[in-house]
Amino acid sequence: LRAAYAARRPESHRHHERARAVMPGGNTRSVLHLSPFPFVIAGGKADTLTDIDGISYIDCAGEFSAGLYGHDTPEITAALHEALAGGLVLSGPNRYEVPFAELICARFASVERVRFCNSGTEANLFAIQTARNATGRDRIMVFEGAYHGGVLTFGQGPSPMAAPFDWVMARFNEIDATRAAIRDHAGELAAILVEPMIGAAGNIPGRAAFLDMLRQEASRAGAILIFDEVKTSRLGAGGLQGEYGVTPDMTTLGKYLGGGLPFGAFGGRAEVMERFDPARPGALAHAGTFNNNVMSMAGGLAGLRDVFTPARAAQFLQECEAFRHGLNAGFAREGLEVRASGMGSILSLHLGAESPETLAQTDPRSVILRRLVHLNALERGLALTPRGDIYLSLPMEVPRRERIAEILTDAVRDELPFVPGR
Ligand code: PMP
Repeated sequence: LRAAYAARRPESHRHHERARAVMPGGNTRSVLHLSPFPFVIAGGKADTLTDIDGISYIDCAGEFSAGLYGHDTPEITAALHEALAGGLVLSGPNRYEVPFAELICARFASVERVRFCNSGTEANLFAIQTARNATGRDRIMVFEGAYHGGVLTFGQGPSPMAAPFDWVMARFNEIDATRAAIRDHAGELAAILVEPMIGAAGNIPGRAAFLDMLRQEASRAGAILIFDEVKTSRLGAGGLQGEYGVTPDMTTLGKYLGGGLPFGAFGGRAEVMERFDPARPGALAHAGTFNNNVMSMAGGLAGLRDVFTPARAAQFLQECEAFRHGLNAGFAREGLEVRASGMGSILSLHLGAESPETLAQTDPRSVILRRLVHLNALERGLALTPRGDIYLSLPMEVPRRERIAEILTDAVRDELPFVPGR
């Protein structure tokens, strides 16, 4: 597969050689690493990508979930042109940030006040610092297999996220063990930081009872419950917290909410967030030259207001769940012991006849299956992320989704025999 991949992409190969001379490994974004070299994207239209060798792909890499809108959404493009014409570096509050903040506060149950930043990483760092300040404590509970699980994030060594904090690692979706761990650390926990569906371990949705337990135990322990909805915010107008009806104390956001531009935000209960009011004595500082950059504010606002309305969000979740069930029914019909986990527009393939609900239930060889399917699907004209995540985007109509299911099924059928022990 690798040899065929390389042979078809001489331009990308040349580009990589040039990149290696100036960027470590030719890379400025670890998750885009691909051996022998990544294909370089020339451009995108709606739900399609084209690389510099002229090869086109259905785009299920979806910019790791930030690409919810697809490429060139007219409402967003128009808003960006208008913003661009008004000047970019305005040195003051602009007319986009308040309506945007109003929409976010109206939609996300936990967010009474919000602050913008430039990435999901920043949002998490600030949420953690806010929780430490609000509680006077230092420890943060995170979950194995989650984005915040450090070593597991990319399987490529510790993430810088892990550096400055005092972590307690707990087990996602394991209710009794996690309850006990929270109670053990009750007096020292500043925050419990959790994705309501963990991504890195292969998109495993939280059990409702697990998230309810976290809510109760966080309150009991006096810890701030932070939902990282950087990715899951696209699963409903009000994120997964809206779908589950569980309201954390704080929420971190990013990805699609910037309309495709750099974006992060953190928010929560007013009395926690008001610590950032600069008029207050001892206020927490949160500077950031581009926190309210006009392009992200204008693009994000247009996306939420004009495209991803609550009705569209609900309909999209339903359509995508139907896609996932259909895909799994197809695997079952063909006797392929593979299932797509996840929810709505975010999916991962797992070995086994059922989707895992805990990290312990995942088959470590699923990582191999996903890498193989990724390369196989590329040759069939479908791009996933290199680690095999699958994202659906708003421009994908039914025939397109059917084609995606067909390619995934063909790729799984081809590659399953090459997974060790299968
Ligand atoms: N949280 C989660 C759950 C993520 O998946 C990511 C990135 N994939 C981040 C935070 C960081 O967001 P960003 O890439 O915008 O820094």
